[in-house]
Amino acid sequence: MSGLLLRAGRVVDPARGLDATGDVLIRDGRIEAVGGRLDGGTKVRVLDVDGLVVCPGLIDMHVHLREPGQEWKEDIESGSHAAVAGGVTTMCCMPNTEPRLDHAAVVMQVIARARAVGLCDVHPIAAVSRNLEGRQLTEMRELARAGAVAFSDDGMPIWHAGVMRKALEYASSFGFLIIQHAEDKQLTEGGCINEGWVSTQLGVHGMPAEGEDAMIARDIMLARRTGGRYHVAHISTSGAVALVRRARAEGLPVSAEAAPHHFALTEQEVMAYNADAKMSPPLRTETDRQAVIEGLADGTIEVIATDHAPHHVDDKRCGLSCAAFGIVGLETMLPVSLQLVRDGVLKLPEMIAKMTVNPARLLGLAAGTLAPGARADLCVFDPEECWVLHRDKLRSKSSNTPWHGKTMTGRVKYTLKDGRLVYRDEGAPDVA
Ligand SMILES: [Zn+2]
Repeated sequence: MSGLLLRAGRVVDPARGLDATGDVLIRDGRIEAVGGRLDGGTKVRVLDVDGLVVCPGLIDMHVHLREPGQEWKEDIESGSHAAVAGGVTTMCCMPNTEPRLDHAAVVMQVIARARAVGLCDVHPIAAVSRNLEGRQLTEMRELARAGAVAFSDDGMPIWHAGVMRKALEYASSFGFLIIQHAEDKQLTEGGCINEGWVSTQLGVHGMPAEGEDAMIARDIMLARRTGGRYHVAHISTSGAVALVRRARAEGLPVSAEAAPHHFALTEQEVMAYNADAKMSPPLRTETDRQAVIEGLADGTIEVIATDHAPHHVDDKRCGLSCAAFGIVGLETMLPVSLQLVRDGVLKLPEMIAKMTVNPARLLGLAAGTLAPGARADLCVFDPEECWVLHRDKLRSKSSNTPWHGKTMTGRVKYTLKDGRLVYRDEGAPDVA
């Protein structure tokens, strides 16, 4: 099989500390060589990527694909198209589907469906508790054997302390990762946005930061007792960042991810009753946003993940209080995160690490590097290109995004999966 040569890009592979201009040679779906000026022979096809960044295909470890059960919002095929348009070649999907990902058969069905679509690797995150009810543990080992890479009740918190303790004990024995949607529902009941000045102005119920902080504090104590690996999903408060920082300093197996909206936006976004800025946890205050940025900068927060949560327009255009929680994120993760680099918070390789090698290591995935021999999953992007996001142009079936009409900087030009070009930006030159 003839190879493909990516010519003269800025190659960034944080897994190997590489950031240099050079070529990438791909053959038989794998990386053959990286760096310098490479000669692929006469049969090799060439893609000129001069001026573009070439990095491992992005990994998004927090996605809601809605299949099975809510395919009018998204399905594995449309979600895969959205993923590769965002430079994502590996994603982990959350278990709050219908039926839930709480049985091995459903987990295997999702994996098989994703393979049939063949655009993006999909690794299910299976439920911690049956039907996400938080009362009875699932058969976690069986789910892991079926292909689940981690466990969460996301959409819902693992609210029951005894169940969380047991889950972490299991996690400790078998090396599983428990991912928590930290929300004390007794504190957030009836809330639709952050509790504070904006919720008071709008006259709607708020969700206090303590709802997130209290549950994480409890969970960290349980992680300390059990030794189980614990991961905070979509961290959003200054209190939560401080708790995770302290736990990690203590050497506990605690990690966290932040979603782009939580480090790019604040509760001010919902001032115009904008339901496309309603998600859970909600957009918080500027102090919280700065704390999340600080956590990303000092390594407290290892991972950037989208919490891609597609909803039909009917679920959003029904008033702020009634609207569904969540926004789509796969196609905006990269440009929104690049702002961290422009602001000097992270160097480009540090930012890329948080969406490639870091989640790969956390989940034990064979992805997230351009090492010779690795599967040729790549994202090629222009870090400077400015463009205006239009919701109708999103590949996702849903268009619930707060960035509609906003100017984005940074654009994915090509995405390769196993050496195949699975996405090419309109207007970008084709392979020669
Ligand atoms: Zn969640």
